[in-house]
Amino acid sequence: MNVGDIINYLNEIAPWQYAEEWDSVGLMVGSRNSNVSKILLCMDVTSDVISEAVENGAQMILSHHPFIFSKLKAIDMENFKGEQIVKLIKSNVTVVSAHTNLDTAPGGVNDTLAETLHLINCHNLKPYIPKGSNCDLGMGKIGELLDYKSFDDFVKDIKKNLGIENLRIIGKKPEKVKNIGVFCGSFDGDLENLKSRKVDVLVTGDIKYHTALDAAQMGLCIVDAGHFATERIILHKLKDTLNKRFKELDIICSKVEIDPFTFA
Ligand SMILES: [Zn+2]
Repeated sequence: MNVGDIINYLNEIAPWQYAEEWDSVGLMVGSRNSNVSKILLCMDVTSDVISEAVENGAQMILSHHPFIFSKLKAIDMENFKGEQIVKLIKSNVTVVSAHTNLDTAPGGVNDTLAETLHLINCHNLKPYIPKGSNCDLGMGKIGELLDYKSFDDFVKDIKKNLGIENLRIIGKKPEKVKNIGVFCGSFDGDLENLKSRKVDVLVTGDIKYHTALDAAQMGLCIVDAGHFATERIILHKLKDTLNKRFKELDIICSKVEIDPFTFA
């Protein structure tokens, strides 16, 4: 099998056209024609992750965040990005990234975040129709807990289910929660939409200071559980999905990548 087979399959489960216009998805480095028998899945293609792929004999890295996002003016080995690109090419490792197409696809990152928090009756938090398509997708999800829960118990559940020890809370804590919004990774900042959806709390991964300040003044409650934690949950699901389709493929999830933020 070659990289192109995997790119085509990804197009079935999370069509590339679902990606936002500003995004950068698909083949980042390498060739669709490269043979592949082992893939490494990760959130970010860091120098450590590249070494991990090479040491483990993976011919392909599939990342969530785009390895090349903004335009490169030069591949200069004296800076870390240039060094990474050269190492990938010399080691015959191809990089493919599936980002906002995977966030919004059915069964993608937002759906997985809702599942991980045991939400039921889920629907879209904010409608999203990719340019040039008539797909009815959503940025973020809204769902319900089976029963009302105290806010403190819900926070305990978030920590347990996402495997984190700390999270940040914005706004006034409701006593009980049932209607939950989720928005994986960076919240888009649309507080008016959030308010109109009447969720008890939104769980997201990244929120700007001024957005947080406005949210609190609007009477909203938001949990910032971290960008890494709200998205990394997709990797194991992606591994299972790819394994079902490509039984002969050896798929590993990065063991070296960590949340860049730590707490003291
Ligand atoms: Zn992200």
